[in-house]
Amino acid sequence: MFNKIIFYNVISLKLIFKFIKMDILDTSLEYLKGIGPNRAQLIKKELKIKNFRELLYHLPIRYIDRSKFYYINELTNSKTDVQIKGKIENFYYKNHKNGKRLVATLYDNTGKIDLVWFRGYKWIEKKISINTNYVVFGKLSWFLNSPNIVHPEITSKNKFEKITHAKIFPIYSTNESLISKGINQSILRTSILNLFEKTNYTFKETIPKHIISELRLMSKSNALNKIHFPNKIEEIDEATKRLKFEELFYLQIQLLKKNKINKLKIKGFNFTKVDFLFNTFYNKYLEFKLTDSQKKVIREIRNDMGSGNQMNRLLQGDVGSGKTIVAFFSVLIALDNKFQTCIMAPTEVLSKQHYESLQFFSKKLNINISILTGSTKASEKKIIIKNLFEGKIDIIIGTHALIEEKIKFKNLGLAIIDEQHKFGVAQRSKLWKKNFTPPHMLIMTATPIPRTLAMTAYGDLDISVIDELPKGRLKVKTFLKSDSKRLEVFSFIKKQIKEGRQIYIVYPLIEESKKMDYKDLMDGYDSISREFPLPHYKLSILHGKMKSDEKKIEMNRFISGETQIMVATTVIEVGVNIPNASVMIIESAEKFGLSQLHQLRGRVGRGRFQSYCILVSGEKKSNEAKIRLETMRNSNDGFEIADVDLRLRGPGNIMGTEQSGILNLKIADLINDNTLLKKAREFASEILNEDPELNNIKNIEIKNTYKSITMNKNIWNYIG
Ligand code: ADP
Ligand code: MG
Repeated sequence: MFNKIIFYNVISLKLIFKFIKMDILDTSLEYLKGIGPNRAQLIKKELKIKNFRELLYHLPIRYIDRSKFYYINELTNSKTDVQIKGKIENFYYKNHKNGKRLVATLYDNTGKIDLVWFRGYKWIEKKISINTNYVVFGKLSWFLNSPNIVHPEITSKNKFEKITHAKIFPIYSTNESLISKGINQSILRTSILNLFEKTNYTFKETIPKHIISELRLMSKSNALNKIHFPNKIEEIDEATKRLKFEELFYLQIQLLKKNKINKLKIKGFNFTKVDFLFNTFYNKYLEFKLTDSQKKVIREIRNDMGSGNQMNRLLQGDVGSGKTIVAFFSVLIALDNKFQTCIMAPTEVLSKQHYESLQFFSKKLNINISILTGSTKASEKKIIIKNLFEGKIDIIIGTHALIEEKIKFKNLGLAIIDEQHKFGVAQRSKLWKKNFTPPHMLIMTATPIPRTLAMTAYGDLDISVIDELPKGRLKVKTFLKSDSKRLEVFSFIKKQIKEGRQIYIVYPLIEESKKMDYKDLMDGYDSISREFPLPHYKLSILHGKMKSDEKKIEMNRFISGETQIMVATTVIEVGVNIPNASVMIIESAEKFGLSQLHQLRGRVGRGRFQSYCILVSGEKKSNEAKIRLETMRNSNDGFEIADVDLRLRGPGNIMGTEQSGILNLKIADLINDNTLLKKAREFASEILNEDPELNNIKNIEIKNTYKSITMNKNIWNYIG
């Protein structure tokens, strides 16, 4: 009777699924044979697995080889995992001062071994019976010269043979609480096996046939079967690869769709003209030859702004790669189409520098440029606001001050943001809202992140990369020095100053211990003043506690060459461009992150002189710090450095929490599976270019899968 009800239930469940097109994988775990409501509850609580799908994707964390069987008289005196076939002779309880235990004696033709349980024995007692064939597996131990296994896995021989004829067994993550309640590896394994039986070992294919054959991927069904119950070790890799690809492929489909939807929805100004200003500047006033990378990026920007849709482009380029001139060409396109531009930078120093660069570039072009920062006088600000609104200013450069409500434009056509990661997405969108039609957005960053990661993390942006430095640049030479070699460093500085160069000496600035850092900086400043006394040497100092006009004065003294040494905290990090500075000394370099070190080093090597970066550190450093310093010494390539950084810190930490959600992949790994990620990106974009709405019948599975991902907001709630 009871069986019948279950039977009907199963039949009707299947029918219901068929009618409402529900997926059997959505079935609650309690309906799986061998699980039931109590175990389902426990598994849900401990492993967060609620339904068939989640169990199916509870992938093994490792495997053990169960191809080898031992005879009992073969067992050696070591504590290894062993597997034995045999029958239970008898079992009994034994009282011990630490509590009761169940002992069962297993025998084969060669000898006997004790199997011992301290916990969960009630359940075992019910399960085992005398004179039945079993396969047991566990860690061998010895007591008074006789072998035993504590808490072995025990499976009836019949069942063992049914389990995939397998030699390699999956091991799943589990915990003490589950094990103590009898939910051990063998139960998990059997449950998954039951799941396979219930689904006929078949799962809906979600990757198009042509990709499967081109990349020689396993089918979905095969991959899921093999990842749980492989016959050979190589199959595990193949199965994993297939599942990783699937995860990355749908991640890319999502991102590219989002990008396309954004583009379709957001109409932008159509800058059809590339006209007088652009051409005049390019032909007459540009003082150097653009690198091929710069040309390529300018072309990309030009296409974007003339497409009728809003441009949303991230421009990545290593420090010194020449992003400013690219920005300037974009500005000229906007101006040729009679639109204004705003350029936002994270600090006053940087804003000022952009202001000066652009003034310099445009000196013969009759362009009206203004700067607006926190320290602009109120009266001046008023005039700027008025002129902006009336369209008398062509380019406005500034800090956050530009986002203020009262800043209004006559016709803002292009917004450029330098050093993206200092601004949040929220600030970006505030700039958008300054117009009814959003301006084109160009976001520039000198923090190189590996391209595939960038594409993934900034899925809503198109990416341009300047991946070469202007010709003739001398590579900055980097040296590591320990504290004790400071005198050598000082004499090197003196030599450089004698040759007319300028020097940065940077101390760390760590938010949590500002006081201490301030002390470090001041102590350092004192000893440097003693070593480099007036009137031979003049020093500047720059730190976060100074008022903004004090900073400006100090900065200008250094820029003008009045001072030779700039002692500073990392406030100078971003963007500062002083071509005569040729030495960057970084004190306590072990305290800096890789991208910061790279940024700081980028402050030198900007002129025609050979430049040097000296990383001074204490004797004691963590391994990670050593790797960072070595990486700096060995590489000048921002992308390579970013890659190491990524490996050290993981994508979440690099991209900030905002993007980490999407980077939370379950099987694939954005760093190690880079090649696969690229492939996934290629295929996804090929498919979407050809069929953006996925309406083509051959893409129907992709469309359905994509739909359920977006509905569930979680890539792992769909695949199956
Ligand atoms: P970043 O990408 O770090 O912002 P900048 O735009 O400040 O770099 O450029 C660094 C320096 O290189 C500037 O002095 C700039 O004028 C110069 N520069 C840019 N492009 C070229 C080029 N193609 N050839 C020579 N010098 C260039
Ligand atoms: Mg710059």
